[in-house]
This record gives sequence, C-alpha cells and structure tokens, in this order.
Amino acid sequence: MQTLDLQDWHQRASAQQPRQQAFIAGRFVDATDSRTFPTISPQSGRVLANVARCDAADVENAVKAARSSFEAGTWSRCHPRERKKVLHRLAELVLEHREELALLDCLDMGKPISDALNIDVPGTAAVLDWYAEATDKLYDQVAPTGSDALALVTREPVGVVAAVIPWNFPLDMAAWKLGPALAAGNSVILKPAEQSPLSALRLAELVTEAGLPDGVLNVLPGYGEEVGKALGLHPGIDCISFTGSTEVGKHFLRYSAESNMKMVWLECGGKSPNLVFADCADLDAAARRAAFGIFFNQGQVCSASSRLLLERSIHDRFVDKLLTEVAALQPGNPLDPATRTGTLVDARQTERVMRYIELGVQEGAQLVSGGERVQIDGSDCYIRPTVFTGVTPGMTIAREEIFGPVLSILTFDSEEEAIALANDSIYGLAAAVWTDDLTRAHRVARALRAGTVSVNTVDALDPGVPFGGVKQSGFGRDLSPHAFDKFTQLKTTWIQLQR
Ligand code: NAD
Repeated sequence: MQTLDLQDWHQRASAQQPRQQAFIAGRFVDATDSRTFPTISPQSGRVLANVARCDAADVENAVKAARSSFEAGTWSRCHPRERKKVLHRLAELVLEHREELALLDCLDMGKPISDALNIDVPGTAAVLDWYAEATDKLYDQVAPTGSDALALVTREPVGVVAAVIPWNFPLDMAAWKLGPALAAGNSVILKPAEQSPLSALRLAELVTEAGLPDGVLNVLPGYGEEVGKALGLHPGIDCISFTGSTEVGKHFLRYSAESNMKMVWLECGGKSPNLVFADCADLDAAARRAAFGIFFNQGQVCSASSRLLLERSIHDRFVDKLLTEVAALQPGNPLDPATRTGTLVDARQTERVMRYIELGVQEGAQLVSGGERVQIDGSDCYIRPTVFTGVTPGMTIAREEIFGPVLSILTFDSEEEAIALANDSIYGLAAAVWTDDLTRAHRVARALRAGTVSVNTVDALDPGVPFGGVKQSGFGRDLSPHAFDKFTQLKTTWIQLQR
C-alpha cells in the first residue's frame, strides 16, 4: 500500500462523493418526505453530504423489508457455512476499502487518519471475521432429563434487530452489532449517529457486494429523536442493541415498555478508574498507558480511563512522567498522518468539554496541562489534552462522563481507599489496576465493580473477549460468543420418548 501524506489525503477528501441516501430493502432511497440533514466535518467545517433524514415512515419501510427478508429465510435459515462465507467476504471488502472507509470516519468525526487506518478499520474487519468464523462452530444443547424424554435447547435468531450506535467509533460500533446479529441469522436495521452516518452507508454497499440478501441489512440515518425513537417504539422490532449515553439508554427502556416489550441491550457511558499502586515496577509503562487510556480518540471513548487514582507516595513522580507523555499528544489536523490527537466530534461537544474544564477550575482542581481550545487550519474543534490534579471525589469532573480529553487525578493512601474511590461512581464499564503484587491484583480486580478490569494495561480489548458494563454503564455484552445471548432466543423442544 502506498504511503499517503497530508496533501494526498486532502485531495482524496475533496474528491469524495459519499453515499447520502438511506438503504432499505437493498436499495439506496431518499427519506420518504425527501428531507435531508447536513453532516459537517469538524476538521474543515465543510458540509460533507446532505444525508437522508429518516423518520417513522422510513422505519416502517425498513421494518417491512427486514421482516420479509427474515421470513423468507434466505439468510435466517441458510446454512451457517453460507453466512460464514458472506461475513468473511465482508471483512475482506472492508480491508480492501481501508483507505476510503478510514477517510470517511476521519472526516465525519475528526479522528486522526492514522488511527482510523490502523485501528478502526482493521478492528472492524477483525470483528466481522471473528463472527464469520464463529458461525459454524456453535453447538446447541441437550438438557439432562430423565430417560423418557429428550429436551433440545436450541438457539434461534430473534428476528428483526435494530442497532443504534454512537459517533465515536462509527465503523467499529457497526461491526460490533452487525457481526453477531447477522451471524445469528437476524435481519438488522442500523441507525448510525447523526454526526457520523457516512461509513455505515458505505458499509451497506459492501454488504450487498459480499452477498447479503436484500432487506437483511437496512441503514437509516437521521436524528435520534426522530428515527431512533421510532425504532425504539416500533412493535415490529424484536430487539434493540444500543450503544450510547446512559440518558438515551434509559429512553430505550421506556420505549420498550411503552410498545412491545422488545429486548433492550445497553452499552452506555463510563467514568473508568485507573489505579496505580506504588508497588507497580514499571511506572513508565503505566504513565504511557494512562495517557493513552484517556487521550486516545480525543477522550471520546466510553471506557476511557478518565479518573487516575494514584497512591500518594508516587503522585509527583508519576504526574511528571504523565505530563511528558501528554506533551507528545498535542492536537493536529486529523488528515495529517503524523497527528495523534484530532478534533472533537463537533463544535457542540467541544463547548460541552470546555464547560467541564471551567467547572474543574471553579471547583478548585489544579489545571496542570492543557485546558485550552485551539484553532488549526480554520477549525476550532480542538482541545489540548487536559490534566487536573488535586481532584476530590465530590467534584463534577470526578463524577460526570466528560467524553473528551480531560483527565482527573485523585490520590489514595490505602488499598481500601483506592477501591472505595474507584467504585464511587454510577458507572461500571471498565477499570485498570497497576501493581506487581499478584495477590493484590486479584483482590482489587475482584472488588472493582466493572465489566472489564485490566491489570497492568488499560482498556484490554479483543473480539473474543466480552465487553460491556455494570451499574448505569448498561447490561449485555458485545463481542465474544456472549454477544449471541443478545441476538438469539433459546427454544426448548421437549420430545416425550415414552407415553
Ligand atoms: P447518544 O446517546 O447521544 O446517541 C447514541 C445514539 O442514540 C445515536 O445514534 C443517536 O442518534 C441516538 N439517540 C439520541 N437521542 C435519542 C433519543 N431520544 N431516542 C432514540 N435514539 C436517540 O450518544 P453519543 O453522543 O452518540 O455517544 C456518546 C455516548 O456513547 C457516551 O456516553 C459514551 O460513553 C457512549 N458509548 C458507550 C459505549 C459502550 O460500549 N459502552 C461505546 C461508545 C460510546
């Protein structure tokens, strides 16, 4: 693959003609009432596309298409090997179109092109490959009954699944839902975030090229309150798999209660603690990963290690090391392959994060790095990586999910205090622990209320490992075989052998 420089990416960006219609029943179509909304690049302020603004009428059409494809059985009842072939081909196509897909996400939400190319796109393909491979490896069960009966426990697809996703990893989040939902034989309606609809629409084309029958995947761009809500309330949808904020996750629970009691699975926000004990031998690695854990993707990561808990005796030494790491992460144009910190997703999010920074100062935390909004090549959606020390547990920046490049550092004097501080949150998505004491590692990991505890790293992730939260970070797991629990129903078939 040729190496592209900033100018090459600029050229490609201006030549792009992204898909902008909705994708229903295998065809690109305008929204029923022909409305559109602009998707704007935070990197340039340019309107990238005027995208179909779907609403309840389009949801109706997509549900019809999804239901009839499901009933037709061309996907839902085809041999698992066929599904495997299509999903593998899709993963290959994603990699074949790596540069184009990376550019769409980079332009749409401002992530560095190098991250999009080297992390997001390969990560998307890896998840699709993983589920392709799982498709014909899963066995059903026979329950232990008496000898007069045979009880089969089989997994069936749930039917029509709606996947509603956020903007921070547009392609990956789509793959995390589509991989297991399609592998299990469901028909899916994907609703990308209004800030980042473009890669999902391109993915729809690739899915067709890979051989997915028409109607099995439908993509409805639009606003949450319009198309998202209509999906949540639709009686023809069997399951919602949602990734996004805790606030909107709660809306989906209400929509389900007010409609057909559809299954709802929620991957929501976080305020993940990263605990560094003085007995950690490699504080350099801990500082490097602590910086990555909060500043990767401009801090717009649900599992971002946004609370750093330091044992008091190493506090000053560790902060020095951390600030050296942070200095290397200054923002730059996301189209520049050298950039490690891009823009925030849009001006609104930038302003929201700046308000939290002001609150941190007002409430008495010490700003030791960043804190400023900067302008680069005409865009002011950049914030310097920001670090606060002297944060206390009651401060807003210690409690609320900022979803931006802001790190809050707290101190502790004992293991018990560290655990109590870490668990003092409404969230429970992820946590990290740095220690060279094996028993402490296990003890603390066990005591932390989080879906994933990483020891001597942060944000450990693999397609084969479950990901999801406890408390108000949600419930249900993405990735791994456990994701099939969301997209399948168990059926018991009891056969009486003796009358
Ligand atoms: P969001 O909740 O605002 O939006 C997520 C999706 O829900 C979007 O597609 C949006 O259009 C839709 N939506 C918004 N309002 C809606 C409504 N009233 N009814 C129906 N649908 C609606 O979240 P966001 O700003 O896109 O993403 C940031 C949030 O996502 C953060 O809280 C972050 O922690 C969370 N997130 C969680 C995970 C995870 O796996 N736990 C991963 C990524 C992001």
